[in-house]
Amino acid sequence: MICYCIKILWNTSKRYFVTCMILNIASLVIPFVVIAVTRQLINFLAENSAASDAVIQTFIMLSILLLGCNILSKAIETANTYYMGLHQDIMETKTKQLIMEKAVELDLSYFDSAEFYNEMQDANANSSLITFSAFRAIEFIRYFIQFLVAFLYLFQFNFILPIIFVFAVIPYTIVDIKQVAEIYGFQRKYMAEERKMQYAADVLLSREFAKDVRIYNIASFISEKFLGIWKMLFSKKKKISLRYTRLLLALLTLPEIVAASFLFFLGLSVIEGGHSIGDFTYLQGLMGQILGSMYMVISSYTQLMDGKIRIQNFRKFLGFQNKVCSDGMLPLVEDSFSIEFRDVSFRYGDDLPWILKNVSFFFHSKQKIAFVGVNGSGKTTIVKLLLRFYEPIEGQILVNGKDVRQYELDSFRSHFSTVFQDYSNYAFTVKESVSLSDIGREDDGNRVMEALRQSGADSFTVDFPYGVDTYLTRSYEENGQELSGGQWQKMALARAFFREADIYILDEPSASLDAKSEDEVFGMFHEMYEGKGAVLISHRLSNVHLSDLIFVLDNGSLVEKGTHGELMTEDGVYAQMYRLQAEKYHFA
Ligand code: ADP
Repeated sequence: MICYCIKILWNTSKRYFVTCMILNIASLVIPFVVIAVTRQLINFLAENSAASDAVIQTFIMLSILLLGCNILSKAIETANTYYMGLHQDIMETKTKQLIMEKAVELDLSYFDSAEFYNEMQDANANSSLITFSAFRAIEFIRYFIQFLVAFLYLFQFNFILPIIFVFAVIPYTIVDIKQVAEIYGFQRKYMAEERKMQYAADVLLSREFAKDVRIYNIASFISEKFLGIWKMLFSKKKKISLRYTRLLLALLTLPEIVAASFLFFLGLSVIEGGHSIGDFTYLQGLMGQILGSMYMVISSYTQLMDGKIRIQNFRKFLGFQNKVCSDGMLPLVEDSFSIEFRDVSFRYGDDLPWILKNVSFFFHSKQKIAFVGVNGSGKTTIVKLLLRFYEPIEGQILVNGKDVRQYELDSFRSHFSTVFQDYSNYAFTVKESVSLSDIGREDDGNRVMEALRQSGADSFTVDFPYGVDTYLTRSYEENGQELSGGQWQKMALARAFFREADIYILDEPSASLDAKSEDEVFGMFHEMYEGKGAVLISHRLSNVHLSDLIFVLDNGSLVEKGTHGELMTEDGVYAQMYRLQAEKYHFA
């Protein structure tokens, strides 16, 4: 643990790490110099009662040396605090950056796992605690060296005494380490409870739940949940702490009794002329150093262990490995390619039901295809497999006849632009929000305007006070604009249209749109994206009937495929669904 902390501190900033180490070493040397100079000064005063120029000169020199040491000591401590503060800042940011990089690099499937999600949230929320704990490792080393030096000095004077000191502190140390271990075990045991508390707080604090909290008046219910867990944890923790604090208080007296006895006998020796008054001060100082540094070693160790659980979670999080193969080296350069699902079966977890069963289909990147089927039949799952967020459990996905895993992941994905059902709303400017799909082209104003027009978002953005530079939502900007569900969906569509892709995937892109807007989007899409490929998923079959190929899914199996005309002639599931909707929506 200590080595790991030192490694991360070193990797964060070598310069600050070395500076902090030098300052720490300097600040551990100075107290010994102060003790030695004080001894000299006191002995000198005791031996020279007659005032002569030489005596006064030496006295002034020793006093200035002592003053210099004390000022230097304070200056080093101040500089240490300054550099440590900066180092901590850098490390906290780097820790957050590492967490973000890791989260982005990992497979989407990790986000389905509560364990991973908790680990990530925990690492992110506790980055300052992780940083704080790591710095305790430096302190631990510093005080340990300080203790060793004091021990050796005292050892020269009397080899029994420092050993007695160590033995006197051992019971305290053992009990304190036991306390740390018990609290660590307690934290591990109740980690899930702590997260539940955090979740309760999130519900009350986040915008996402703000409406429900008010309309259902659930604030006190959630607060009680929060407080209930806190009270349970608090009382258990208090019990442990109280038990150990009583014991520690009793054990604290032992080293103090040893120190007082030693000083008593040393004092007697000074009275009898065995030792000088300077020796008395010197040895008293060394004893203070031994005791002080021993307690600091224990305290920094305790604090380090207190953060151990967070550091371990952080390490576990960084150790997560991807399952989706990203070793493919082949770039996919051509815009015209074929895609084939061959006997693909898939489920989201070993103990979860199969979502796709032996699904096989073939299409070309220039074709517009559609997937239809009731909710939960597996349409979005096909898209997620196609975009390589997950690997098929059985079967293969082929691109131009080659296993898709042979292609470079980014190069393959760059051919697609997608709007998912659960599209994202960004609190950026309109321009940024649209151009996120093709970073680097955000200044292409014409393209931004075109994408807004294609999605129908121009109808409302045109009235915005700062045009495409208007911020969306008022979460971060007073002048921001709030959007309705349908308007957000149009922004998501604009983002997908902004990207120059070969295949556009629209997964239920119209759930929040009114019927008129929906017709306009699909009508425009078929017209504007002539020659481009598309994968369309829509409840409204009127939106997909123009597709070159329609695949009908039922409970994870592909049950029909063909053009609209062929499927109507076949008079199967598709024809039934189409007629049912035609009666409802009068579009036939
Ligand atoms: P559709 O798009 O046809 O409505 P989906 O492909 O989204 O259906 O979902 C198919 C099934 O897979 C649903 O029963 C859903 O609950 C399940 N499912 C979707 N995503 C996950 C996931 N991340 N983990 C577990 N099950 C999932």
